[in-house]
Amino acid sequence: MKFSGDYHTHSTYSDGHGTVKEMVLAAVKCGLAEIGLADHGPANIGTGIKNGKTLLKIQTELEELGLQNPGIKLLGGVEANIVSPDGFIDVEKDVLARLDYLLVGLHPYVIPQGGAGLSWIIGNQVAGIRRYKSRIRNQNTKALIGAVYRYKVLAVTHPGLKMEIDIPEVARACQIRNTAWEINTGHKHPGFSEILEAAASGVDFIVNSDAHFPETVGRLEYGAQILEKARVPIERILNAME
Ligand SMILES: [Zn+2]
Ligand SMILES: [Zn+2]
Repeated sequence: MKFSGDYHTHSTYSDGHGTVKEMVLAAVKCGLAEIGLADHGPANIGTGIKNGKTLLKIQTELEELGLQNPGIKLLGGVEANIVSPDGFIDVEKDVLARLDYLLVGLHPYVIPQGGAGLSWIIGNQVAGIRRYKSRIRNQNTKALIGAVYRYKVLAVTHPGLKMEIDIPEVARACQIRNTAWEINTGHKHPGFSEILEAAASGVDFIVNSDAHFPETVGRLEYGAQILEKARVPIERILNAME
């Protein structure tokens, strides 16, 4: 199985170690037809972009790089954070409208929105030691589904990583909303049984590297192996080619 593009990469504008240009050149080098930059939204504590304007700056850089590299399609997106239990994200609508695509993900270390957001996020940070683990899981599930319904989301990043969710429930919502389930090769997540659980809903998949270094752009082998093992048909993998 080969892949046409890698849509989840980070640059030095968030916590990546390569500039936008270095990430693009890495994608050219490994022969991808498309590369997407999706830096962390501003709510990630210590690792997010400065603000929404940064995403527009990245878009401008990508446009210039596109002229110099006509053989590859460059896309500007974001890995937005869900910052409230009803699924609001940390990127303004007017910025979103100018991006090529939106990824959303649950991350435990974000600046939440409002009091309900605060207790939800704190709950997740202590979920391992608190007895109301299943309540937190329900809140995470609702938050993710809320975002999938509220926005036009290309894919949910690393679903269930560090923040537990009800996989069949979220996958069903993604299937209905045409949002893909990410196989994140950087984190080697999700694993085999979780993929089977998601696949049963009929959801589509996308394989991304979550590269934080130019060297890991396009390293998508884990996705090919695990999806083949799970017998997910190629038509259900957005960026698979053969
Ligand atoms: Zn992430
Ligand atoms: Zn990421």
